[in-house]
Amino acid sequence: MDMRLILLGPPGAGKGTQAKLLAEKFNIQQISTGDILRQAVKNKTKMGLKAKSYMDQGKLVPDNVVIGIIKDRLDNADCSKGFILDGFPRTIQQAESLSQALKQMEIDIDHLIDIEIGFDYLIRRLTGRWTCRECGEGYHKMSNPPKKKGVCDKCDGELYQRDDDKEETIQKRFEVYRKETEPLKDYYQKNGKLNAIKGDGGIQEIFSRITNLIT
Ligand code: AMP
Repeated sequence: MDMRLILLGPPGAGKGTQAKLLAEKFNIQQISTGDILRQAVKNKTKMGLKAKSYMDQGKLVPDNVVIGIIKDRLDNADCSKGFILDGFPRTIQQAESLSQALKQMEIDIDHLIDIEIGFDYLIRRLTGRWTCRECGEGYHKMSNPPKKKGVCDKCDGELYQRDDDKEETIQKRFEVYRKETEPLKDYYQKNGKLNAIKGDGGIQEIFSRITNLIT
């Protein structure tokens, strides 16, 4: 079954975790601009070098950079059976470019899911987040700890805390979310496709809320 999804929600709402599970369940591609940018930073590509200072400060990377990433990715044949966008769009301009690109491709989004969560909960969640340097697997010191501290269960890679998960940066990321990304809710509500689910609770609980909504 073809499935094209967008996950919205503040940083730390669990978009990445849920996107991975959904990609597996529906056998579709996960497209995360955050992951693609982090990989570019790691590989020190031209794009990565440009993006790094924005990311470290909790700011958004310029629209033209991320829009370019998404267009490239959607053009790829592996997306023909469906995809899930996680972390894109994050501004009205990104949403408009996306809708133009989809129109040109003669495809449409099936579901937009907004994961709702409060700021205090986010602070607790984000400051406990650890990511594998090698495979990108995510862990959490409370809800999903690795078997061995600091080591990835899947590939034995080293776990690290993202620079942008430090408390001051989270504050900034949340402000940016309020100002730039939250208006997308109204934008998408107008075409009637937006559904909200509660983002508190365990990973499986949230996953069930999403799958109940879309299947
Ligand atoms: P994420 O992992 O989705 O929280 O993204 C980490 C960082 O990458 C963000 O704080 C931004 O600096 C940058 N980023 C990811 N996606 C976008 C986007 N769609 N637009 C602008 N910047 C982005």
